[in-house]
Amino acid sequence: CGPGYGSCEKGKCCSKYGYCGTSDSYCGSGCQSEFGTCHGSNSTKKTSNTKSSKKSSTKKTTTTITTITTIGSLPTSANGKCGKAYGVCPSGKCCSKYGYCGTSNDHCKVDRGCKSEFGICEGTSESTSELNNTLTTVSSTVSTTASTIASTTYYYECKNKNHWALTYDDGPYKYDLKLLDLLKKKGVKATFFLNGDNVMDITSSEGKKIVRRMYSDGHVIGSHTWSHADLEELDREGIISEMIKLEDALYDIIGKKPAFMRPPFGAGQDNEEIASVLDSLGYTAACIWNVDTLDWDKTGN
Ligand SMILES: [Zn+2]
Repeated sequence: CGPGYGSCEKGKCCSKYGYCGTSDSYCGSGCQSEFGTCHGSNSTKKTSNTKSSKKSSTKKTTTTITTITTIGSLPTSANGKCGKAYGVCPSGKCCSKYGYCGTSNDHCKVDRGCKSEFGICEGTSESTSELNNTLTTVSSTVSTTASTIASTTYYYECKNKNHWALTYDDGPYKYDLKLLDLLKKKGVKATFFLNGDNVMDITSSEGKKIVRRMYSDGHVIGSHTWSHADLEELDREGIISEMIKLEDALYDIIGKKPAFMRPPFGAGQDNEEIASVLDSLGYTAACIWNVDTLDWDKTGN
């Protein structure tokens, strides 16, 4: 759902990432009332929109303009996100389909879902030019920066050579609670790059219990995709689906989405397309590794 896709079917909410659904991660914070139902204060507005949809297209135009005027009064986002809940992107930045500010094609191209209500977009439409007037954005600056491909940084080692980080992939799994006990005893924090459906179903009660414990113990939770997918084998939509599906599951469990990810098999290290899609989804780092214990190769031992 969203610009370029339209509204969700009746009764469904449009999440801040532009997907239709009915759970809190779709209907709560960041829910886009322009493209579906939302729980909370926005729902009344949505109902009145639906009722007036019988009216002519002239009426619709008026609605659009009203929206833009309202947006002009939204605050400028300070955390890199954009949308009703966060505000408008800083000058010169585009608001991606998934509600992140940036300058890559994934943020700025109208046909990739750029949200003209919350930033500038490439590929001018009526509403874009209106917005630019409202916000007095310097559009010439933007067209130059927008050609630069923004991408998620791939990290191979700690910046400081004397630092190290302990990371675990592919969980949750049946050994994790024991591992968490040990980490707690030793006072060590780790990072868990989790899957949604790999060795254990993250939505199972055991899976949820483990994730909640990781989170409450203060470990970092990162994404390792929903199904341990090789991102190089997937097209853009496939990558997005792998990332969003896990985010939604994690959001349902701990109310947060990850900021970091680790691509399964370390895939995509020289692939600008993958890095650019990850960036458009708000991932600030793709964490590779430089030491591998090869425990995964010791089945049963
Ligand atoms: Zn893995």
